[in-house]
Parts: sequence; C-alpha cells; structure tokens
Amino acid sequence: MEYIYILAGCLIVAALLYVRSIRKSFAEMSDRAALFAKGADLLRAEKRALLENLEEGALTVDGGGRISCVNIKVLNLLGIAQDRILGKEYRELDRASVKELALPSKKLIERVLNEKERAHSHVVVNELLKMHFELIAIPIPQAEGVILLLKDCSNEQKILEVGKEFIANASHELRTPLTIIRGFAETLKDLEEVSEGMYESILEKIIRNCERMESLVKNLLTLADIENSGPLSLAPCDLVALLDESCGQIIAIHPEIHIEQFYNEDQIIILGEETLLILAFINILKNCVKYSPRPAQIKVTIDSREDEVYLQIEDKGVGIPEGSWERIFDRFYTVDKTHSRRLGGAGIGLSIVKIIMDKHDAKIWVTSQPGVGTTFHISFLRT
Ligand code: ADP
Repeated sequence: MEYIYILAGCLIVAALLYVRSIRKSFAEMSDRAALFAKGADLLRAEKRALLENLEEGALTVDGGGRISCVNIKVLNLLGIAQDRILGKEYRELDRASVKELALPSKKLIERVLNEKERAHSHVVVNELLKMHFELIAIPIPQAEGVILLLKDCSNEQKILEVGKEFIANASHELRTPLTIIRGFAETLKDLEEVSEGMYESILEKIIRNCERMESLVKNLLTLADIENSGPLSLAPCDLVALLDESCGQIIAIHPEIHIEQFYNEDQIIILGEETLLILAFINILKNCVKYSPRPAQIKVTIDSREDEVYLQIEDKGVGIPEGSWERIFDRFYTVDKTHSRRLGGAGIGLSIVKIIMDKHDAKIWVTSQPGVGTTFHISFLRT
C-alpha cells in the first residue's frame, strides 16, 4: 500500500514538472513569436521609410505580375490612387491619368518580366513643360518580379540643353567675324591692284572683327571664371568710391558723355568684391552709352537705406521693350541682333553683371520705356 502512495506521489511530481516545462516552452515560443512579429514590423517600417525617402517614384511587381509595393511619389507621378493599383495586375497601369508615363512604364515592366534583364527608357512628358523622365526596370531574381523606378531628370536635361545652346551660340558668334576676316584677307590676296583707300578700309574691317572676337573670348572667359570661382571673399568696400571709379573709366573712353551722380551719403559701405563690382558697373554704363544717341546722358543714384542700399543707373537711350526686361540678362540675348552686332555686342555683358550680382546676393532688374530710356535697379542687402 505504501508503494502505491510513493508511486502516486512520484507521478504527481513528474506531472507537475512536465506541465511546468511545457508552460516554459510555450512562454518561450510566444516570446519568440512576439520578437518575430516585432522584427517583421520593423522590417516593414524600414522598407516604407526607404521607399518614401527615395528621390524616385518606385513600384515593385511580383512574379505573378501584381503590383506589390508603391511609394507616394510614383502615385503622384502616374496620377493614380493607391487602392486602384496596389495588388492589381501591372496592366492596370493603363488606368493612370498620366498616360505618357504610365504606358512606357507598363511596356518596360513587361519587357523585364519576359527578358529578366535590366532595361531603361527616356520619356518626355508634356511637350510644353518638357519634363524628362528616366524609367529604370530591374529584375528581382528570387521573386521573379520587377522593381520600376521613375526618375525626374528634367534639371540634368536642362543643364545639358543650356550647355549645347551655349556652345552653338558661342561658335556662331565666333564664326561670324572669322568668316568676315577670311573674306577680306582673300580679297586682299586676289586683287591685283588695291588703292590705298581700299587697302586701309579692308585692314580696318579686319582689325575691327579681330577686336570683336577678342572681346567675345575675353567676356566668355570672364563669365566662366566668375561662375567657377565659388563663393567670393567679400570685404567692406565703399560703393560711392566704386561708382566714382567706374564713371571715371567710362568718361576716359567717352569724354563727350554727361553723368550726373546723386548719393545720399558721402560713404556707403557694403560687403563686396571691388574688381567685380567695378566690372559690373562698367558693363552697365557701357551699355547706357552704346544704346543712347550721342552724347549719352546718364544718371547714377545711390539711396542708402536702413536695410538695403538701392542703386539706379539710368539713361535716355533707345529703351527695351517690356517682353525683354528679364531676358536681357540671359547669355547671348540681344533685343535686336543686327543693332547689337553693329555696336560690337554679343549679349554677354549683362549676363556677367547678373552673375556678379548673384554672387553678392544682390538683386538686379530693369525697367524701360522704348524711345525714352532705361533704368537698371540694383539692391544690395545691408549686413
Ligand atoms: P550686348 O553686348 O549685346 O550689349 P548685353 O548683355 O550687355 O549684350 O545686353 C543684352 C541686350 O540688352 C543688348 O543687346 C541690348 O539689346 C539690351 N540692352 C542692354 N542695355 C541696354 C540699354 N541701356 N538700353 C537699351 N538696351 C539695352
């Protein structure tokens, strides 16, 4: 009988130990499951953060051809709501409102699903705004799916186009005087007899065109230098002295002109780079002379205020039509090409002025009345 009690006791103890160990393993399992769930949540959150912080629009297509993941950027670019696309067949991209982007995206996904090789294409959306996109489709080997990236490369494209346009303009402006020089040089070579007057006149034209080329190359190099110079090392300088110096230099070349100067203080200190500021003022003053009937009448005013120094350079010349006020600061832009060319201009002077003002955080703009005159306004912020 005693044995039975001992046996029963042992069985109860064993059962208790067994239940405890089962409870322990259950607890461990549920801890692991919680950890796993937490890990999966973390992974999902990381994936979402990664997707939403991408510069590109991104979507993924699974092996079954269904769209399994999208970021907000891709939805905005394609013009479609998340619930109309997520989990749907990639062919549903047809429903997106920006067809110029959606249809090539669909084609590219199809191609990569079939060929399992990375592919890309270039798409121009909205001929008017000329938005350029690079579509890149990458196969996902394990999932047999595809990642599609939509990259807005309009800015890069614009820089490329500006560069191409610049080279085309520069070559054209250089080729014109070169052709003239060559033409006159050949004339001199071919003519058996040349009167002294004609000889002088041809030589003078050759020299004028050489000067034109020289001035253009010099201006282009100046523009490139300033552009590549990085931030300027600005130092306190007296605007009154700089304008006196600039006006003095112009009067030395054109003694017949009249310049009136009005400054509301004897000394007006701003932060600047003296040589560049003088170059900018001289370029503006030169134009005032160039585009005015002789003798040019120019007025220079500085109004030193509490928060800004406001400068005006005014002429009584031919003026600029309102449609060109902003464009005159563009490279190679001239209101009247033939007129400017006759005066030896190629539309670079004011782009140098603009870049100098940008580097000084100064604003420059123009107002004008054709036939009455032009005013250049410059505002330097007080530091
Ligand atoms: P350019 O060397 O041809 O003068 P700029 O860049 O200096 O080039 O000027 C661009 C264009 O702006 C000029 O071709 C001219 O049409 C116009 N312009 C500039 N300054 C004046 C001015 N003071 N009066 C009238 N037109 C001007």
